[in-house]
Amino acid sequence: MVGTHSSARTATLSRLHRDILACTRCVDAGYLPRAAPVLSGFADNRIMLIGQAPGMVEETRRLPFQGRSGKTLMRWLVRAGFSSEADVRRRVYMTSVTKCFPGKGPGGGDRRPSRREVDLCRPHLDRQLALIRPHVILLVGGLAHERFLPGRPLDQLVGRIFDAKGHPLLGTPTTRPLLVPLPHPSGASRWLNDSANVKLLDRALRRLRSVLAVIDAPMAVT
Ligand code: SF4
Repeated sequence: MVGTHSSARTATLSRLHRDILACTRCVDAGYLPRAAPVLSGFADNRIMLIGQAPGMVEETRRLPFQGRSGKTLMRWLVRAGFSSEADVRRRVYMTSVTKCFPGKGPGGGDRRPSRREVDLCRPHLDRQLALIRPHVILLVGGLAHERFLPGRPLDQLVGRIFDAKGHPLLGTPTTRPLLVPLPHPSGASRWLNDSANVKLLDRALRRLRSVLAVIDAPMAVT
């Protein structure tokens, strides 16, 4: 019956993706000129990556992490144990807190989606989480950190692994999902110009490698 179960999950995920791809809530509410939701992944993915919002390149290609930031992120994930970018794209369900390109902000970088846009998009992310039930969630960038681990500076997040209640993980993981915060890979972020923060990223990728090695082991899901 495993095959039947997995094809039912695949069909449910396809329906969810169709719903999300047809969404125009932020256009209807006047926040965006057009909606072009971006996501990718498979029903059997155990790892979920949640970014902030897609950029212009992702909007054009309708695939997550396609631009320069995406290249950097893929390099990080290969350092954490994935064999290649293709391996990442097959094994990691990729989505974001808001799923449409928010446009440029006044400073020239991508605009940070407003609280209201995050709220409008939240039901999509909730449904994705409920369906995928990831064992590991990679949190990339400020909005993703805020949703799952609010009110903590980046240097208290990167390099640590947290349980679903936001407690730092000590020792061997016993519950799921595990939360792994990463900085945003965009060159616009100056956080990685500090060598102490580069060490935190190294630590985060080492810890992620250990987590990825054990995600097949039986654990409680919280
Ligand atoms: S950002 Fe989310 S809620 Fe807003 S239009 Fe895109 S998919 Fe819909």
